[in-house]
Amino acid sequence: MFNIVIFGAPGSGKGTQSERIIKEYGLHHISTGEVLRDHIARGTELGKIADSYISKGQLIPDELMIRVLAHYLEEHPEEIKEGVIFDGFPRTIPQAEALSELLERHNTKVHAVVGLEVDEEELVRRMILRGKDSGRADDNPETIKKRLDVYHKSTAPLRDYYTGKGQYHAIDGNGDLDRIFADIRASLDKARM
Ligand code: AMP
Repeated sequence: MFNIVIFGAPGSGKGTQSERIIKEYGLHHISTGEVLRDHIARGTELGKIADSYISKGQLIPDELMIRVLAHYLEEHPEEIKEGVIFDGFPRTIPQAEALSELLERHNTKVHAVVGLEVDEEELVRRMILRGKDSGRADDNPETIKKRLDVYHKSTAPLRDYYTGKGQYHAIDGNGDLDRIFADIRASLDKARM
């Protein structure tokens, strides 16, 4: 099993690069944002709660988010067998600790954290552009600002957390998509050895 966390600010290209990583390494993609958006689209109880946070650019509370992920892993034993790429999780230190515990229960661990590091101006530009195509309700200037504030306050500390564990691989996420992916592949191939 080979488990990766793809990490970075909103708009850093986690979804785009995840697609390439999945193809190359045959991993199962878990995007907690997509799991939540699916619940919102289906109008579930969780979807209603999630929407009230997502539309304000806030994080879903840790306890709930951890339960959602634990449930997802329990429900998809076959899909996660070869390894998982976690996209959008963890977003806080308690979530990172919970992820280690959850993976331990499945007799595995996080093997590498790929951190996409992108300049702030570029992040905003990409999210506004994405909002035009995807129609994502949280890709509007006001919510984008809030999401970046939340990222700096709650999520960015995970960089030091995973660096301390020797798991963090910094990737320059600005510029050409092929070059970014080549850098990711070089880091992951080293981490797999
Ligand atoms: P994303 O698609 O990863 O950008 O996530 C969109 C939104 O879903 C975020 O702005 C949060 O409101 C919520 N969300 C996704 N993943 C998490 C998480 N791990 N913890 C808390 N909230 C999350």
